[in-house]
Parts: sequence; C-alpha cells; structure tokens
Amino acid sequence: MGFVDMQCPKCGAKIREKCNAWAYGSPIKSCPKCGSEFIDKRFREVAVEGFDTRSTDPVLYLKGFGLFLAFTTVCAVLLVFMINFMGGYPTKLVGCLVLCAFASLVCLVLFICTKLGLGEKDNAKHLEESEKRLQNKEYVKKLEEYGYDIPDKYK
Ligand SMILES: [Zn+2]
Repeated sequence: MGFVDMQCPKCGAKIREKCNAWAYGSPIKSCPKCGSEFIDKRFREVAVEGFDTRSTDPVLYLKGFGLFLAFTTVCAVLLVFMINFMGGYPTKLVGCLVLCAFASLVCLVLFICTKLGLGEKDNAKHLEESEKRLQNKEYVKKLEEYGYDIPDKYK
C-alpha cells in the first residue's frame, strides 16, 4: 500500500490518494475542493499502459538478489580479513554487511512472491477496474486528449 500526493493546479488544494505501490488507477483526477479536473501521469491506467514490470517480472528481483548477495560476500570477506590481519574492523562495515544481507533477503522474498504469481490476483483486479473505466467513451476520449495511446478495442 502507498499513497500519492497531488496538488490541484487550479486552486492549489493538497490531495492525497491511497493506491498500491505501483499507483494503478485512473490518471484523471478531480479536485474535491474546486471540482476542476486534472491529469496525474504517475497513476497507471493498466488497460492502456500495461502493468509495471516490477509487479510482474521476477527476474528483476533475482538480479537484485544476486547483486546484494555479491556485496554481502565482499563485506564478509573484508570483515574476516580485517579481523585476522588488522586486529579490528570499522563498525560501518558491519552495518553494510547487515544491510546488504537484509536487502538480498528482501529481493529473494519478492522474487519468490512474483514467481509464484502472488500479485496476479491483485493485478487482475486492477485490470478489471481499468477496463471498466475504459468502457466509458467520454473517459476514453479524455485520455486521448491527454495524449494517451488507446488500444483500438476500447475506442
Ligand atoms: Zn482545486
């Protein structure tokens, strides 16, 4: 879960909207204060723009896992070396080691979750909502006016 902070370009009202980590939702917003409409392209209309690869591609996390694991190994080797040959070690190095090990673990968990398709149900729900919005011809027209390339099946 997350949120996106916006500001109405007309009246300057600050708006905060809840969304998932990839901001799947309609990019067309209307200000609750003055009612004017504006666009926020940080939001992703998934039926038009597709899913964020970070929510569908496990390889990204596998790469992250490999990278952080390599850093962890380097830190560990350095630490052992320093303890054995220099009689001491900087605490920063230990911090680095712990941080890298933790990051690689997070990547591994995310890899497994993405690989198993644990986010697919959530993605399917967002796609369904997106397709529902696109059944509205006026909405599609607005998106086109804002510069979105709409697939023919929604026109
Ligand atoms: Zn406003």
